[in-house]
Amino acid sequence: KTYDGTEYFDLLGWQKAYRACDRQFFEGIGERHGYKMMHDPNSLLSKEALQYCSIMEEKTGKPFYYFLFTYYKKNKPVCPKCGEPWVNQKHAISRKIRYDFVCHQCRLVADDPNF
Ligand SMILES: [Zn+2]
Repeated sequence: KTYDGTEYFDLLGWQKAYRACDRQFFEGIGERHGYKMMHDPNSLLSKEALQYCSIMEEKTGKPFYYFLFTYYKKNKPVCPKCGEPWVNQKHAISRKIRYDFVCHQCRLVADDPNF
C-alpha cells in the first residue's frame, strides 16, 4: 500500500494517468505530449513512477524498475537520467533483466524500437 500505508488509490491514479498518456500517443491526439510523458525520465509521470518504485522497493526489499517507452529513435548508450553507460551487456547471457538498457542506479529499463 503506497498511500499512508493503508491505501493504494494514488498508485491507481498514476496508472490512469499512464493509460491516458498511452492513449494520447497511440491515438494521435497529443501524440508528442503522451510520448514525452512516457519516454522522458524527468517527466512528471516518470518522476511519480520512480517514487512508486522506491516505495515498493522499500516495502518489499526487492528492486523495482521503471520502463521508459521508446519509439521514434534508438536509445543512446548512456542513461538519460544520470549519464552513465546503460547498455545491458548481460542481455544475451541472462534473461533475468531482458531489456536492451538498464540503469541499476536510476532503476530504469528500456528497449530500442523494433523497426
Ligand atoms: Zn541512470
